[in-house]
Amino acid sequence: MFHSVTKIELSVTNRPLNSVSTRLTEVENCLTRHPLQNTLKTSVTFVGVGLHSGRPVKMILRPASAGHGIWFKRTDIDGRGAMIPALYHLVERSPLCTRLVNDSGVSVSTVEHIMAALAGCGVHNALIEISGPEVPIMDGSSVPFLRGIMKHGVRTQAAPILAYQVLKPVTVEKDGARATLLPADQFEIEFHISFTDAAIGTQAKRLDMRNGSFARELSDSRTFCNLSDVDAMRAQGLALGGTFENAVVVDDGEVLSPGGLRHSDEAVRHKMLDALGDLALAGGPLLGRYVGERAGHSLTNTLLRALFETPGAVRPVECTPDMAARMPGQGLVWAEIPHVA
Ligand SMILES: [Zn+2]
Repeated sequence: MFHSVTKIELSVTNRPLNSVSTRLTEVENCLTRHPLQNTLKTSVTFVGVGLHSGRPVKMILRPASAGHGIWFKRTDIDGRGAMIPALYHLVERSPLCTRLVNDSGVSVSTVEHIMAALAGCGVHNALIEISGPEVPIMDGSSVPFLRGIMKHGVRTQAAPILAYQVLKPVTVEKDGARATLLPADQFEIEFHISFTDAAIGTQAKRLDMRNGSFARELSDSRTFCNLSDVDAMRAQGLALGGTFENAVVVDDGEVLSPGGLRHSDEAVRHKMLDALGDLALAGGPLLGRYVGERAGHSLTNTLLRALFETPGAVRPVECTPDMAARMPGQGLVWAEIPHVA
């Protein structure tokens, strides 16, 4: 959710014609100077199971007004406690996924793939109604969400896009992992991973997020794990909805999931997808370069907290057309969204 939003008044009733004309010119000038926020054109429904809970869940993405931001609403809970804003400071430590918890203690888990899809489409405002405590895992990637949203498209709203511009480097480290945000002219994500299983091994990738690159390069990459981790996760009550279809499972240098990999470096691409979703919890698009080295959801969240707590490290800016052209939603083309079974 943005801290402040300047709404543009479009009403021109009860004025002389020359005044109306002047006002329309002002509006046009304002819209030209300030690229505009987006919401969904229509509601979109997804049905599936939670990766960790294994519970069936129905999720409906609904359009929302300018300045609303992204909110989750638990439809199985009554009253104001059902509302959970998608903001970084509400992230609670949780293994293997990103979990938001509101002031009433109501939570929603595994938000990262839907947040990545919304950021990748340039959607700034949406209400996400969800019938249980975990977002459906679908195929383990963001592409079912991306296709569902872009099948109908997005609608422009009369309010400027507010972004967060990184002004100086911020780094956090823990247990040999590191995450960094650096000033940059565009939003970039770079990731390095190193896994002991040879089916994944050492991978690195860097991507400028403009021109629909999220859709083409990252959106269909699935979550992954070692077969040996599955029993350990299930003993902790995790991955109960995991299958060989909604996660890439590897064992002793082999990919066990039917059909193999979608990309030879699918694992690092998925980590970049996760990073985009976790960084979207800033409350607006970032203008800066993220570098993750063996980082996970928790460390990326620690990085966002450090960014906003470090004096002079970030500032909110109204996007100029030039800035907006570098955002992930720009240049997205339906034909370039991967089609997966
Ligand atoms: Zn993920």
